[in-house]
Amino acid sequence: MIVILKQNVSKEKLDAFVKHIKAQGPDIHFSEGVHTTILGLVGDTSRIDINLINQMDVVDSVRRISEPFKVVNRKFHPENSIITVDGKVRVGEKFAVIAGPCSVESEEQIIEVAERVKKAGATMLRGGAFKPRTSPYAFRGLKSDGIELLLEAKKVTGLPIVSELTSLANIDLFNDVDVIQVGARNMQNFDMLSELGKCDKPILLKRGLANTVQEWLMSAEYIAAGGNENIILCERGIRTFETATRNTLDLSCVPVLKEKTHLPVIVDPSHATGASRFVRPMSKAAVVSGADGLMIEVHNHPEKALCDGAQSVTPDQFDDIMKDVLRLCEIENR
Ligand code: PEP
Ligand code: MN
Repeated sequence: MIVILKQNVSKEKLDAFVKHIKAQGPDIHFSEGVHTTILGLVGDTSRIDINLINQMDVVDSVRRISEPFKVVNRKFHPENSIITVDGKVRVGEKFAVIAGPCSVESEEQIIEVAERVKKAGATMLRGGAFKPRTSPYAFRGLKSDGIELLLEAKKVTGLPIVSELTSLANIDLFNDVDVIQVGARNMQNFDMLSELGKCDKPILLKRGLANTVQEWLMSAEYIAAGGNENIILCERGIRTFETATRNTLDLSCVPVLKEKTHLPVIVDPSHATGASRFVRPMSKAAVVSGADGLMIEVHNHPEKALCDGAQSVTPDQFDDIMKDVLRLCEIENR
């Protein structure tokens, strides 16, 4: 349920109204816009009499929200959310580009890639230290050493770092990581989502391999319901009958999400297509679709990469992609 308040309501009247609502069970989520204040009522609203609320003098209008996701719903918070990373990158305000290797492999690799992507205009550095792999025999990341190397690359370049948490058992190693990535395979790890709701770190929530937009938003709601609304959604392709690409990039989810939620949405064309030559056209398409940013896998030697080499672009190719992206951002006024 959302309650739109009248303008210039006094603090005393607002406090009394809030007390009245809370006494009936629900919690209140405030969204203060330029002209209106919206109260989102979350939790059990069954005891609330909508007609009674409508008549109260502080209330302009009130309506029930049919969707099961509330805090992340745009009806609760009509303005776009801006997620500040490391005090400097504002995702949702300016087009954000997260770039770097699938996995951190060595100091030389991560520093070289970090320096190159920064020079090309990337705003954050990615790198997996813990890798979720389909095969137990595949490279599963450098783990805590990988995090250390990312921090080293941050020291050299100043780029905030993004890395995937694959298990809550490792969460203490992520204290200095700027954005915690929840991978596609953990999108419905509800214990992990709830736990991440208790911190205030930005969370990059990837879409599950075969999840609907609503399921994805419900996962975001898990994090938000715990109190952490610093969430960035990332479309990374879904499973369909098509086998010509690794996954099918569902770009239409971008305008769909823009209607449904106030959270920023970025696009990962690398995992979506699985082939480096398709990353450039899909990056361009993502800008025009209205996405707030990109996540692109870049490796200094894709042919030797320990993970996802086929979809990794070289730093030179990334330079060309960024030229296109920045040009399109200018045309699109972003
Ligand atoms: C990744 O970003 O390297 C990754 C494993 O992505 P996803 O969870 O989308 O497969
Ligand atoms: Mn990868």
